[in-house]
Amino acid sequence: MTKKHSNWTRRAFLKATCASGAASVLALKNFPVLASGDALVVPTRLFGKTGIKVPVLGFGTSLHVAFSQLLLRQAVKWGVTYWDTANTYMGGNSEKAIGKYFNKYPEDRKKVFLVTKSHAWSADDRTRELNLSLERMQTDYIDLYFAHGVRNVDELDSQTKRWAQKAKAEGKIRFFGFSTHRNMERCLLGAAGIGWIDGIMMRYNFRLMHTNRMKQAVDACAKAGIGLTAMKTQGGGQVTTNTATELELAGHFLQKGFTDAQAKLKAVWQNQQIASICSEMPNMTLLMSNVAAAVDKTRLSAQDMHLLWKYARETRSDYCAGCADICEPAVDSEVPIDEVMRYLMYARSYGDQKKASAHFKKIPQKIREQMIHLDYARAEQKCPRKMAIGKLMRDAVDELS
Ligand code: SF4
Repeated sequence: MTKKHSNWTRRAFLKATCASGAASVLALKNFPVLASGDALVVPTRLFGKTGIKVPVLGFGTSLHVAFSQLLLRQAVKWGVTYWDTANTYMGGNSEKAIGKYFNKYPEDRKKVFLVTKSHAWSADDRTRELNLSLERMQTDYIDLYFAHGVRNVDELDSQTKRWAQKAKAEGKIRFFGFSTHRNMERCLLGAAGIGWIDGIMMRYNFRLMHTNRMKQAVDACAKAGIGLTAMKTQGGGQVTTNTATELELAGHFLQKGFTDAQAKLKAVWQNQQIASICSEMPNMTLLMSNVAAAVDKTRLSAQDMHLLWKYARETRSDYCAGCADICEPAVDSEVPIDEVMRYLMYARSYGDQKKASAHFKKIPQKIREQMIHLDYARAEQKCPRKMAIGKLMRDAVDELS
């Protein structure tokens, strides 16, 4: 489908329809609710078979120590007490920020469902990293400990299972699971089959949630009692778009009282099998906006969902779905295509060039040098979304090096 570009840019439209920049990201009709001073608490859902209720909105805490404290304090007040971090975020400073907070407000530790992650794969490395996370966050236990970035559930072998059981028995973690950005459906289906995974955080949004395979995978986890947390719920693509449908989307939802960003959160919450959304909220405006969306009880209508789906269809070739097993074997090098796509998304969709470049530079130099010369034609043929993989890989070298 061709993309029709409007004479109005999305930014101009929002500027004209909203009273202020802040209003463009807050739910217009919900803002008075936040401002009223009433006790606001984000609703909760059961997290799989753990018996724990978690808020439907989780706080993705890639935060600087200095800037985080007020945000964390307000998050607790609004019931955003599912905190997600990783031992590598901000070079360890994200965990330190949480530690600083718990040091000042130790009474809040019990209110928080605390999640962190590690890339370590050997038992010894994982133990060392877990101990460091506990020390940094000034806590005796982690509620949910994730193996970070699992690509295939076979990576979680019997040694990992024994490690998780031991860490639970020692009281250092309560639950164990993994995060996954790629081959998500296969990872979810695999986890449902092995029977000892408590929770998973996966890429899930209005673009990905409607495929039969994703529905099957989520169903299987729900039946297996695995708690599910959705991330990357805004479905930001690698290619920046400004289509007529995007404009229509923004206008449609603003008339209903929320932004399209809030509607994208609501689309995910509409599936009760998803316990929580992990959202990175680096400022108070975004925290307020997301809390407003979470406390608002309006459900998206069939027409709302259709509009989101129409937009997803039109921009299909601008969004990488993480099915890297399809494209990567078709390239004569070990280019991590889906990872590079994610870094482009950080730069182009999140506007976080620093984070994108930092990740990109971790790809071995030899591979980065090869990237611009490789032939991606076979990979592009195989890509179900018909992404311009070659161009995007070369763009990444240009923009992120
Ligand atoms: S580029 Fe295409 S095939 Fe490769 S991971 Fe992305 S969507 Fe899947």
